[in-house]
Amino acid sequence: MKLQINDYCIRCGICEDVYPDIFKRNYETHNIDVLFDEIPEDKQERAEQAAADCAVAAIKIIR
Ligand code: SF4
Repeated sequence: MKLQINDYCIRCGICEDVYPDIFKRNYETHNIDVLFDEIPEDKQERAEQAAADCAVAAIKIIR
């Protein structure tokens, strides 16, 4: 499983606040970075929850 942040992310930062083990704000690009290329198995459930939590559905799951 991979995660992709779409361009229409409003950079609210909630994903980083709630799931700091998966997301990190990049202060140079002002984007949200996903910390993993392949999401580790033990974080996949949280990654799915993060995608469901995003208010603008900007977190795309790629399987
Ligand atoms: S929760 Fe969604 S809109 Fe907010 S920063 Fe994360 S990906 Fe972007």
